[in-house]
Amino acid sequence: MKISVFWFRRDLRLQDNTALFHALNSEHEILPVFIFDEEIISELPKDDGRISFIHESLQAINQSLNTFNSSIRVEKGNPMEVWTQLISKYEIDTVFANKDYEPYARKRDTEIHQLLAKNNIAFKLYKDQVIFEESEITKSDGLPYTMFTPYKNKWHEKFQYIDSPPLPFPKKPNFKEKSFDLPALNALGFEKSGIHVQPYTLDAISDYENTRNFPSLDSTSYLSPHLRFGTIGIRQLIAQIPIANTPFINELIWREFFMQILFHFPEVTHHNFKSKYNGVKWRNDETEFQKWCDGQTGYPIVDAGMRQLNETGYMHNRVRMITAGFLCKHLLIDWKWGEAYFANKLLDYELSSNNGNWQWAAGTGCDSAPYFRIFNPTEQIKKFDKNLEYINTWVPEFNSLEYPLPMVEHKFARERALSVYKEGLSSVPFK
Ligand code: FAD
Repeated sequence: MKISVFWFRRDLRLQDNTALFHALNSEHEILPVFIFDEEIISELPKDDGRISFIHESLQAINQSLNTFNSSIRVEKGNPMEVWTQLISKYEIDTVFANKDYEPYARKRDTEIHQLLAKNNIAFKLYKDQVIFEESEITKSDGLPYTMFTPYKNKWHEKFQYIDSPPLPFPKKPNFKEKSFDLPALNALGFEKSGIHVQPYTLDAISDYENTRNFPSLDSTSYLSPHLRFGTIGIRQLIAQIPIANTPFINELIWREFFMQILFHFPEVTHHNFKSKYNGVKWRNDETEFQKWCDGQTGYPIVDAGMRQLNETGYMHNRVRMITAGFLCKHLLIDWKWGEAYFANKLLDYELSSNNGNWQWAAGTGCDSAPYFRIFNPTEQIKKFDKNLEYINTWVPEFNSLEYPLPMVEHKFARERALSVYKEGLSSVPFK
């Protein structure tokens, strides 16, 4: 008997899931599938917190599927090989999935599309992880925005709650009958991580504008890993936020802004968005980089951030800006090194946001901070952690002899950064 397949990727939920909604409204029984893609996971440590979170989310999905007498088929391997096997095992009519805009995923989906087409199987991809995708928000000449403010204004102009309602889930979904047990984490070659994704909350965002920049207040939503892995749908989320909470919605728009940047300019993955910065001569001192990674720079706000990241897989946004700026400007280390370190550690690691924000901090990105804006880490403490609560949490020894002296003097580092950036800019002909 013919079936259709729903392929879970970064949309690990049953509710408000666009492609699943369409799959369940199609004529065939639906086999839910998830593939641990070896191309991605082979580079991760066995106890990676993101793998544990994916596994927990699959468990929750599987439990719900069990209540409909169904189950998820979980595979591990190269997606082309897995799909070749699935095609040989089942008579598949259509594969439904939600779009992923990262360069690797787009290439993979093109290859899978070709494989499916050769076997007369339809591949239907849907917009799901954003309100507006690809070229839905562009300048009047159809070109992508590279500045946030006009993009954001157009987004608000175009957005209507009524056009993006959360998608309903049917009372009697037509899933294929239960045939699989979910493999345990160990059977997949992983171990449970000691680092956990915490639940998101919308309680703290009512006064977001006034509280969001103070790391000790802990007043942000913790939505980022949930948006990354799709344990909440963007429509369902937006429906819970009053449009009057513009500062919060604007942060969600930053996420979409960077996604469309990555979609239109995939080369940012490996290059400066602004090529005029290509001449900046990074110092790239490995010992200094290690001190930054370990939270041993002697600047307590930088060290607090790095230690929070290392211990929890999370860092507050204000502190991400400070630590990233410190690496690029004070230490003159290539933003790609910092980006890669964050990519390894962040539970919410998202190529578009990580790359966009790192390039913002380095001054090389679209709409980035001007290169001569150099945070003074001590002034940042006065503004955002004046009672040292955040610092005391992560660097309890900071006032003792055990704590290292600043690895570089601020004024000296500032002057050095200004001169290296200036020299770099003058060495590349302006385009
Ligand atoms: P909240 O303040 O509650 O914000 C709500 C949501 O808005 C976030 O979950 C996120 O989806 C979005 N958002 C908020 N700020 C930004 C931003 N500056 N850019 C894009 N989206 C934003 N965010 C990631 O999701 N993944 C990353 O890999 C990532 N890397 C970053 C690297 C650097 C150097 C910097 C400065 C920021 C990075 N961010 C990244 C953005 C931001 O720091 C996190 O989204 C935020 O701290 C997550 O915590 P929250 O969900 O509690 O945020």
